[in-house]
Amino acid sequence: MNPDDHFEEMAAGLDRYATVPEDVLLDVVTRDGACMWLYTNENEPSWTGDEVSDRELAARICAGCPVRRECLELELRTAGPATVGVWGALSDEDRRALYPVWVARRSRAESDVDGGPSA
Ligand code: SF4
Repeated sequence: MNPDDHFEEMAAGLDRYATVPEDVLLDVVTRDGACMWLYTNENEPSWTGDEVSDRELAARICAGCPVRRECLELELRTAGPATVGVWGALSDEDRRALYPVWVARRSRAESDVDGGPSA
């Protein structure tokens, strides 16, 4: 699969959250996010301060998170291309690559709802 298809598929996986209000996403992520549970249970991961190892550790935590798509949707909406760190199981670099694909997909969907492009 080429990278464009990969990000298109990933953006398509977020379509179901397009109409979910931001405050609902935030509630779900803060309630059920794996990283939130780690902190509230005083079981904070062992951050090293090294960017590569900390990114790998964050990615491992995210990989087992039950709300990673909701988290990714929220991050794309709120931080957009200015995103930093690992959120939604993706590095900031991957989210920056995903962001324009996600925006274009949402624009097409809105255009379809509005009756398509005007002549
Ligand atoms: S996907 Fe990662 S950053 Fe987002 S809530 Fe889950 S563990 Fe936290």
